Amino acid sequence: MSLASTICRYCGQELSFQTEAEPFLIQVSCHRCRYVTVVEKSVITSLPEQVYRRFLPGQRPPAFEPSEDPRTIGSYLYTMAGALLDVVIERAQLDLPVARSSLVSVFSRREKLMQERISRIYQFDPSIESRMFPKIAALLWGVLCHTGGLSPSMIRNFSSRGVSRFLSWFEPIAEELVTIAGFATNIRRGEVQPSFDGVGFTFAKTSRHTAMIESIVNYKQQQRYTPQVGSLDEAFSREALESQRLVLGFNAADITKLALNGFEQLKTYTDVVLERNVYWIRVPDRDDGIRKLILSCTLTLSRLCGFRFPLFFDCGIRANPPISEREAILNATAINWSVYYPFCSTSEIEGEVNYVATSRGIVSLFLTSLETQKNALTDQLIVRFQQACVTGRSVREPERIWVSLSRISRAGIHIVADTVAEVVADDAYSIQPGD
Ligand SMILES: [Zn+2]
Repeated sequence: MSLASTICRYCGQELSFQTEAEPFLIQVSCHRCRYVTVVEKSVITSLPEQVYRRFLPGQRPPAFEPSEDPRTIGSYLYTMAGALLDVVIERAQLDLPVARSSLVSVFSRREKLMQERISRIYQFDPSIESRMFPKIAALLWGVLCHTGGLSPSMIRNFSSRGVSRFLSWFEPIAEELVTIAGFATNIRRGEVQPSFDGVGFTFAKTSRHTAMIESIVNYKQQQRYTPQVGSLDEAFSREALESQRLVLGFNAADITKLALNGFEQLKTYTDVVLERNVYWIRVPDRDDGIRKLILSCTLTLSRLCGFRFPLFFDCGIRANPPISEREAILNATAINWSVYYPFCSTSEIEGEVNYVATSRGIVSLFLTSLETQKNALTDQLIVRFQQACVTGRSVREPERIWVSLSRISRAGIHIVADTVAEVVADDAYSIQPGD
């Protein structure tokens, strides 16, 4: 190990740091401005031959041509992930009762990891398990929806028999699948530069990846030095809450109230069972705000098929026409959907969700993300509103917004009206002739 030097990306100060063996990710703190500059070098290799030998015995890897093209390599990865998924589906079909029972254990482990992640929320956390495991859980859930359907009987009639045997088979293959899907996503985002030489893949982290890590590190550091928020009123701006209620009919405060003290409030409406840190909730029959709130935050397989990318309250990128269930399950191994849909359907009767599962950590992560991504959400709500105006097809949406507008305070109306006007003005400008 020796000394190397870099420049503080914020103030230009020359900084020295201890080198490490590759792969490395070194945080170099500036003694002048406290900004953290990240220095990273990481090249990961993966051999399709090994993946097939370990998880797909009897199958030969396809004869992929050597390539440096990100799209081509993305399609190779998709082929491999698909082959792994088929094996998981086949096994779940054979072992359906055990696979179903395993979901309780998987959700419980996911919650434990979420709690750990929340306790370190102001630190940069390089460990990948807490990011990977929710996707592993989503994979099992998706496969169960696809193969056996979710049944009300799985809510309480699970047994531990065969679960550990099933999970010791499932977890390694699921981890490989999630890893492959993760590479494909990182390629698309330009965070890794891929290549395939005919035998193995190499994935080199790009400067874009380093910049992203650096931004997270500095954001977390800044959060650590800002006073912690004491209550919900401080965490969410009044405007953010107002605009959520305006367009959605409820807001983050309603969701928090609902989740408070182990869903205490909800227990007066419906059955809430706590099993190994996982809440199983019967969706209230009464068609009111609470039912609407739960259902609009619940992940179902048909929702998974309807979107290429999730965002809160169905504001994500729609898939038109909807993608197949298999494709949707693969898609869910690359993105953590529970951030956007903290409840997941665990029982459906004639296509209607009647039981959902959730946990405290998942709800907290959802609320935190709702706050940090509120700008993206507002943008999407405005886009939806504009599209409806332009096409004239769906008049229900703007109507709903304007009806809600008339019900809220004057301040709230101004906030939303101003934002809409601003965006419309920007768009009008951008389509001026001769631009
Ligand atoms: Zn500096």
